[in-house]
Amino acid sequence: MKDYKIIMMNLQIFFSKILDCIYCRKCYLCSQKCFEISVCEECLQKINSKLKFKYFQKFNAKIYSGASYSEEILKIIRAFKYHKKREFEKILTQILIKIVENYKLKLENYIVCPVPIHKNRFAQRKYNHMELVGEEFAKFFNLKLKTNWLHRIKDTAPLYKLSAEQRHICLKGAFKASKEMEGKKILLIDDIITTGTTIKELSEIILQQKPSDLIVLCATRSNNCNI
Ligand SMILES: [Zn+2]
Repeated sequence: MKDYKIIMMNLQIFFSKILDCIYCRKCYLCSQKCFEISVCEECLQKINSKLKFKYFQKFNAKIYSGASYSEEILKIIRAFKYHKKREFEKILTQILIKIVENYKLKLENYIVCPVPIHKNRFAQRKYNHMELVGEEFAKFFNLKLKTNWLHRIKDTAPLYKLSAEQRHICLKGAFKASKEMEGKKILLIDDIITTGTTIKELSEIILQQKPSDLIVLCATRSNNCNI
Protein backbone atom coordinates (compact mmCIF):
# COMPACT_ATOMS: atom_id res chain seq x y z
CA MET A 1 0.00 0.00 0.00
CA LYS A 2 2.82 2.38 0.99
CA ASP A 3 4.74 1.40 -2.19
CA TYR A 4 1.64 2.18 -4.24
CA LYS A 5 1.45 5.64 -2.64
CA ILE A 6 5.12 6.33 -3.33
CA ILE A 7 4.55 5.29 -6.98
CA MET A 8 1.53 7.65 -7.15
CA MET A 9 3.56 10.51 -5.66
CA ASN A 10 6.39 9.88 -8.15
CA LEU A 11 3.85 9.81 -11.01
CA GLN A 12 2.54 13.21 -9.90
CA ILE A 13 6.09 14.55 -9.86
CA PHE A 14 6.69 13.03 -13.33
CA PHE A 15 3.62 14.74 -14.83
CA SER A 16 4.55 17.94 -13.06
CA LYS A 17 7.96 17.73 -14.78
CA ILE A 18 6.25 17.43 -18.16
CA LEU A 19 4.25 20.57 -17.35
CA ASP A 20 7.51 22.25 -16.30
CA CYS A 21 8.94 21.49 -19.74
CA ILE A 22 5.87 22.86 -21.48
CA TYR A 23 5.57 25.99 -19.38
CA CYS A 24 9.30 26.54 -18.67
CA ARG A 25 8.86 26.88 -14.94
CA LYS A 26 11.51 28.56 -12.84
CA CYS A 27 12.68 27.60 -9.38
CA TYR A 28 10.94 29.78 -6.80
CA LEU A 29 14.10 29.93 -4.70
CA CYS A 30 16.99 30.41 -7.14
CA SER A 31 15.15 31.37 -10.37
CA GLN A 32 16.93 28.82 -12.53
CA LYS A 33 14.85 26.80 -14.98
CA CYS A 34 13.54 23.77 -13.16
CA PHE A 35 11.75 20.52 -13.72
CA GLU A 36 10.42 20.03 -10.21
CA ILE A 37 7.38 21.32 -8.37
CA SER A 38 8.43 24.99 -8.59
CA VAL A 39 11.62 24.31 -6.63
CA CYS A 40 14.68 22.87 -8.36
CA GLU A 41 16.39 19.64 -7.32
CA GLU A 42 19.41 21.57 -5.99
CA CYS A 43 17.29 23.76 -3.72
CA LEU A 44 15.26 20.74 -2.56
CA GLN A 45 18.52 19.02 -1.65
CA LYS A 46 19.63 22.13 0.20
CA ILE A 47 16.42 22.00 2.25
CA ASN A 48 16.85 18.28 2.91
CA SER A 49 20.49 18.71 3.90
CA LYS A 50 19.37 21.15 6.60
CA LEU A 51 16.94 18.71 8.18
CA LYS A 52 17.85 18.57 11.84
CA PHE A 53 15.39 16.44 13.76
CA LYS A 54 14.62 17.37 17.31
CA TYR A 55 12.41 15.88 20.01
CA PHE A 56 11.12 17.62 23.13
CA GLN A 57 8.69 16.56 25.79
CA LYS A 58 6.95 19.69 26.93
CA PHE A 59 3.46 20.81 27.95
CA ASN A 60 2.65 17.09 28.46
CA ALA A 61 2.98 16.56 24.71
CA LYS A 62 5.64 14.87 22.61
CA ILE A 63 6.94 17.44 20.14
CA TYR A 64 8.95 16.52 17.05
CA SER A 65 10.40 19.00 14.59
CA GLY A 66 12.20 18.59 11.28
CA ALA A 67 14.26 21.38 9.82
CA SER A 68 15.86 24.20 11.77
CA TYR A 69 15.23 27.68 10.33
CA SER A 70 16.82 28.34 6.96
CA GLU A 71 16.23 31.05 4.40
CA GLU A 72 14.88 28.47 1.94
CA ILE A 73 12.34 26.83 4.22
CA LEU A 74 11.05 30.17 5.54
CA LYS A 75 10.59 31.46 1.98
CA ILE A 76 8.67 28.29 1.07
CA ILE A 77 6.39 28.51 4.12
CA ARG A 78 5.63 32.22 3.58
CA ALA A 79 4.83 31.67 -0.10
CA PHE A 80 2.66 28.67 0.75
CA LYS A 81 0.86 30.45 3.58
CA TYR A 82 0.44 33.98 2.26
CA HIS A 83 0.99 33.93 -1.52
CA LYS A 84 -1.19 31.05 -2.68
CA LYS A 85 1.73 28.78 -3.62
CA ARG A 86 -0.33 25.71 -2.80
CA GLU A 87 2.05 23.39 -4.62
CA PHE A 88 4.55 23.78 -1.73
CA GLU A 89 2.25 21.61 0.34
CA LYS A 90 4.26 18.60 -0.88
CA ILE A 91 7.54 19.98 0.49
CA LEU A 92 6.13 20.45 3.99
CA THR A 93 4.33 17.09 3.87
CA GLN A 94 7.59 15.39 2.90
CA ILE A 95 9.37 16.95 5.89
CA LEU A 96 6.65 15.69 8.25
CA ILE A 97 6.88 12.21 6.69
CA LYS A 98 10.66 12.28 7.19
CA ILE A 99 10.19 13.13 10.90
CA VAL A 100 7.90 10.09 11.29
CA GLU A 101 10.42 7.87 9.50
CA ASN A 102 13.39 9.27 11.44
CA TYR A 103 11.81 8.52 14.82
CA LYS A 104 10.04 5.35 13.57
CA LEU A 105 6.78 6.68 15.03
CA LYS A 106 3.88 4.27 15.12
CA LEU A 107 0.87 6.34 14.09
CA GLU A 108 -1.93 3.73 13.98
CA ASN A 109 -5.22 5.24 15.18
CA TYR A 110 -3.85 8.76 15.56
CA ILE A 111 -6.15 11.48 14.32
CA VAL A 112 -4.49 14.28 12.39
CA CYS A 113 -5.51 17.79 13.49
CA PRO A 114 -3.93 20.74 11.69
CA VAL A 115 -3.37 24.03 13.56
CA PRO A 116 -6.51 26.04 12.75
CA ILE A 117 -6.78 29.57 11.39
CA HIS A 118 -9.55 32.05 12.21
CA LYS A 119 -12.53 32.15 9.82
CA ASN A 120 -11.67 35.74 8.81
CA ARG A 121 -8.18 34.62 7.82
CA PHE A 122 -9.71 31.66 5.93
CA ALA A 123 -12.00 34.03 4.04
CA GLN A 124 -8.98 36.11 2.96
CA ARG A 125 -6.65 33.24 2.03
CA LYS A 126 -9.34 30.77 0.81
CA TYR A 127 -7.45 27.90 2.43
CA ASN A 128 -5.66 26.84 5.58
CA HIS A 129 -2.25 25.70 4.35
CA MET A 130 -1.86 23.19 7.21
CA GLU A 131 -5.17 21.54 6.25
CA LEU A 132 -3.71 20.91 2.78
CA VAL A 133 -0.61 19.36 4.37
CA GLY A 134 -2.87 17.38 6.73
CA GLU A 135 -4.84 15.91 3.81
CA GLU A 136 -1.71 14.71 2.05
CA PHE A 137 -0.07 13.47 5.27
CA ALA A 138 -3.20 11.62 6.49
CA LYS A 139 -3.62 10.01 3.06
CA PHE A 140 0.01 8.82 3.09
CA PHE A 141 -0.29 7.10 6.48
CA ASN A 142 -3.97 6.07 6.15
CA LEU A 143 -5.03 8.21 9.10
CA LYS A 144 -8.20 10.14 9.83
CA LEU A 145 -8.07 13.90 9.41
CA LYS A 146 -10.26 16.20 11.50
CA THR A 147 -10.30 19.83 10.50
CA ASN A 148 -13.18 20.77 12.80
CA TRP A 149 -11.87 19.53 16.14
CA LEU A 150 -9.77 22.64 16.70
CA HIS A 151 -11.01 26.18 16.22
CA ARG A 152 -9.31 29.52 16.39
CA ILE A 153 -11.90 31.72 18.04
CA LYS A 154 -9.79 34.86 18.46
CA ASP A 155 -8.77 36.77 15.34
CA THR A 156 -5.23 37.85 16.20
CA ALA A 157 -2.91 40.00 14.09
CA PRO A 158 0.02 38.10 12.49
CA LEU A 159 2.31 37.00 15.31
CA TYR A 160 5.69 36.96 13.61
CA LYS A 161 6.73 40.42 14.80
CA LEU A 162 5.66 39.87 18.41
CA SER A 163 7.86 38.85 21.34
CA ALA A 164 7.18 35.62 23.25
CA GLU A 165 5.46 37.58 26.03
CA GLN A 166 3.24 39.50 23.57
CA ARG A 167 2.34 36.25 21.78
CA HIS A 168 1.39 34.67 25.06
CA ILE A 169 -1.04 37.52 25.88
CA CYS A 170 -2.39 37.56 22.32
CA LEU A 171 -3.03 33.80 22.16
CA LYS A 172 -4.66 33.42 25.58
CA GLY A 173 -8.10 31.93 24.90
CA ALA A 174 -7.52 31.99 21.13
CA PHE A 175 -8.34 28.30 20.57
CA LYS A 176 -11.12 25.87 21.30
CA ALA A 177 -10.95 22.06 21.16
CA SER A 178 -13.75 19.57 20.53
CA LYS A 179 -15.01 17.23 23.27
CA GLU A 180 -14.66 14.44 20.69
CA MET A 181 -10.93 14.39 21.44
CA GLU A 182 -11.57 12.56 24.70
CA GLY A 183 -9.83 9.19 24.72
CA LYS A 184 -8.44 9.68 21.19
CA LYS A 185 -4.82 9.77 20.04
CA ILE A 186 -4.23 13.24 18.66
CA LEU A 187 -1.55 14.21 16.16
CA LEU A 188 -1.27 17.98 15.90
CA ILE A 189 0.60 19.32 12.87
CA ASP A 190 2.08 22.79 12.35
CA ASP A 191 4.55 24.53 10.05
CA ILE A 192 6.81 26.60 12.31
CA ILE A 193 7.65 26.66 16.01
CA THR A 194 8.85 30.23 16.49
CA THR A 195 8.57 30.85 20.21
CA GLY A 196 6.50 27.76 21.07
CA THR A 197 3.52 29.84 22.28
CA THR A 198 1.00 28.50 19.73
CA ILE A 199 1.94 24.88 20.49
CA LYS A 200 1.79 25.57 24.25
CA GLU A 201 -1.70 27.12 24.03
CA LEU A 202 -3.02 24.40 21.74
CA SER A 203 -1.51 21.57 23.80
CA GLU A 204 -3.18 22.96 26.92
CA ILE A 205 -6.65 23.17 25.41
CA ILE A 206 -6.32 19.77 23.71
CA LEU A 207 -5.20 18.11 26.95
CA GLN A 208 -8.21 19.60 28.77
CA GLN A 209 -10.31 17.28 26.60
CA LYS A 210 -8.38 14.28 27.96
CA PRO A 211 -7.09 12.62 24.78
CA SER A 212 -5.26 9.32 25.36
CA ASP A 213 -2.11 10.77 23.74
CA LEU A 214 -0.83 13.92 22.06
CA ILE A 215 1.96 14.11 19.51
CA VAL A 216 2.96 17.35 17.81
CA LEU A 217 4.78 17.37 14.47
CA CYS A 218 6.23 20.62 13.25
CA ALA A 219 8.09 21.05 9.96
CA THR A 220 10.57 23.62 11.23
CA ARG A 221 11.75 25.25 14.41
CA SER A 222 13.47 28.52 15.28
CA ASN A 223 16.93 28.14 16.81
CA ASN A 224 15.94 30.27 19.78
CA CYS A 225 12.44 28.99 20.46
CA ASN A 226 11.56 28.54 24.12
CA ILE A 227 11.09 24.80 23.90
ZN1 LIG B 1 16.53 26.37 -7.09
